[in-house]
Amino acid sequence: IQSKLPGVGTNIFTTMSKLAEEHKAINLSQGFPDYNCDPVLVDLVSDAMKNGFNQYAPMTGLPLLRTLVAEKTNKLYGSQYHPDTEVTITSGGTQAIFTALSACINAGDEVIIFEPAYDCYAPAVKLLGGLVKPFELVPPDYDIDWEMVKKLFTANTKMIILNSPQNPTGCILSDKDIKSLIKLTKNTDILILSDEVYEHIIFDGRKHQSVALYPELSERSFVIASFGKLLHTTGWKLGYCLAPEKLMKEFRKVHQYNVFSVNTPMQLGVANYLKNPESYTGLTDFFQQKRDLFRTLLSETKFKLLPCNGSYFQCVSYGHITDVKDTEMAERLVKEFGVASIPVSAFYTKHTDHKILRFCFAKRQETLEKAVEKLMNL
Ligand code: PMP
Ligand code: GLN
Repeated sequence: IQSKLPGVGTNIFTTMSKLAEEHKAINLSQGFPDYNCDPVLVDLVSDAMKNGFNQYAPMTGLPLLRTLVAEKTNKLYGSQYHPDTEVTITSGGTQAIFTALSACINAGDEVIIFEPAYDCYAPAVKLLGGLVKPFELVPPDYDIDWEMVKKLFTANTKMIILNSPQNPTGCILSDKDIKSLIKLTKNTDILILSDEVYEHIIFDGRKHQSVALYPELSERSFVIASFGKLLHTTGWKLGYCLAPEKLMKEFRKVHQYNVFSVNTPMQLGVANYLKNPESYTGLTDFFQQKRDLFRTLLSETKFKLLPCNGSYFQCVSYGHITDVKDTEMAERLVKEFGVASIPVSAFYTKHTDHKILRFCFAKRQETLEKAVEKLMNL
């Protein structure tokens, strides 16, 4: 067959995790915890299975879970998402993103993404016949010059994809960024897809700028979230999408035919777990401790640390040590030093190598210490 995604190979997370396994390296590449989730949560899912909740869930998600998600979001951001018409439970953030894009993007539509960008946006836009309009952010601060973003606008601009806290840079959008975005898109029909899977992983007392805080934006936005990040359960592939009813109606038309519905016992277990909001309020402190520890340890190595204000990723630059390509550097770190990372060039549509590597610090203290001990040999 003629490839619909020529130039796309196996993605970088699979590649680096496989390489880490082959070389028995410490895997700080793909973003997932190396510790277990709360056993109470596991018991709640297992109880749901034992109690017979093993058949199809409603297409839009279990009502109890949708209700708790709406309550949590509305309380945090002062929004008014209705659980019946404006929340849909999905198979992780990835499916929610793909479904939202499928519901809106037609051939020729342009989608603005900020690069480096999480890897699933651009291929999905291309598959749908859309055109990716990358806006390159410059390290180390990756600030957005909104006047320059405006220059990318054309009559075909359909959507802007936001991701804050951002993967891979750990940068976050400020209220000033959001206000610029509101100004720029006022009186337009430009849709927003706001990937907020790291909404609770934000540091030093900063406030997450959800688009749900701003009615001018949320009325044209899909908000994406993931229970994988919230509950340390990336392997469960459970997440959700929030959107105003008119957008959610279209989202659900696609959702009902590409997955129909999502894993029932896990939805019920998660819902019963979320009844106690304390189950996730500690997340910020938990990851801030890990970030602080990891940064302190890394500061003893030859790497230069980039800022990390959110997410569970820390980027480092090494251009002052060697000028090898970041893909080669990442491979060398696995093979010669026993630590796996992600080369940040993987997050660009055009070849761009600032000689930056991304490490995931959602790991046990012992893992982070052992990894940095190895990196000290560099
Ligand atoms: N968006 C971002 C920015 C991510 O980092 C991830 C996963 N790490 C996802 C979406 C996908 O989430 P999920 O694993 O729930 O599909
Ligand atoms: N989101 C995770 C990361 O950035 C990985 C997800 C995946 O493997 N597709 O590392």
